[in-house]
Amino acid sequence: MPSEFELIARYFTRGTSHTKLGVGDDGALIAPTPGQELVISTDLLVEGTHFLADTDPEALGWKTLAVNVSDLAAMGAQPRWALLAAVLPAPTPDWIGTFARGFFECANRYNIDLIGGDTTRGPRAFCVTILGEAPAGEALRRDGAQAGDSIWVSGWPGRAALGLAHLQGRTVLVEPQLGECLAALHRPQPRVALGLALRGVATAAIDVSDGLLADLGHILEQSARAARLQIPGLPAAGIERDCLLAGGDDYELLFTAPASRDSDIAALAGELRLPLTRIGHITAGPPGELVVCDDDGTVITPARRGYDHFMSPLEAGTVS
Ligand code: ADP
Ligand code: MG
Repeated sequence: MPSEFELIARYFTRGTSHTKLGVGDDGALIAPTPGQELVISTDLLVEGTHFLADTDPEALGWKTLAVNVSDLAAMGAQPRWALLAAVLPAPTPDWIGTFARGFFECANRYNIDLIGGDTTRGPRAFCVTILGEAPAGEALRRDGAQAGDSIWVSGWPGRAALGLAHLQGRTVLVEPQLGECLAALHRPQPRVALGLALRGVATAAIDVSDGLLADLGHILEQSARAARLQIPGLPAAGIERDCLLAGGDDYELLFTAPASRDSDIAALAGELRLPLTRIGHITAGPPGELVVCDDDGTVITPARRGYDHFMSPLEAGTVS
């Protein structure tokens, strides 16, 4: 059985490309780019709450880093460095090696240096701290939405929750939808390029981790604004609608921008080859109010808005 130090050396030590001193000392040394602000975020993934014991370790390794990358994407930041705190049961090198492969696949994809962490024995859990950079004053935030702004979402919100519903036997998907939904669930693609392109364009942004309505609610609260949603092609009532409106784990970006930028954003979708859908607008209504309409403009009352850890882990059908 490898020791803690052998584990770190074998599985979590790789070359770095933009770090003065990485894994192996008491602390890492990094030199932020002059003129940039550091954007820092952390996320915890706990077995039984965020992933199941039989989850494929490679997909889990990818996702452990990807959900953190997504937070930086939502800030309009360029991800640069990460630290990984790992709690592992009796070390099983195969499992850890496969997890590390997925983790470094994601790190390589987004050019992130792993610069440190901590490793300890216990019930399996992972905590990543990620650092990125954005030009001073240009990071995207949740608190800038203005009345009249358009509300946009990237990609295909709802897919991850639908994939989970399939795995849990709450719905039955067939190809190609099945493959698309499972890929969204297991291999989320953080929208870093979109976040960078939205600097100076978006007035507020968030990544969809808890559910579209719940996360839009966060923008509305922090911006003290209201919204009216009318999502093109919203499915009829049922699990597809529920997953789209309230499913978590998508890691798409939800953002607001002045209506005068609508055509720029439509063009950006073409450049990035990523659907960007205008799903409503910010209104001058009471702060926090969210009116949701059907495709034909009829006001609807969604069953739920999203996922809350302190309500019902896993059974709610989405994880964040
Ligand atoms: P210390 O006891 O000084 O905190 P550790 O023995 O915990 O140091 O870790 C030794 C080195 O390995 C440190 O540089 C630490 O950042 C790094 N490290 C520990 N665990 C991990 C991990 N899971 N991933 C990456 N680096 C790690
Ligand atoms: Mg330590």
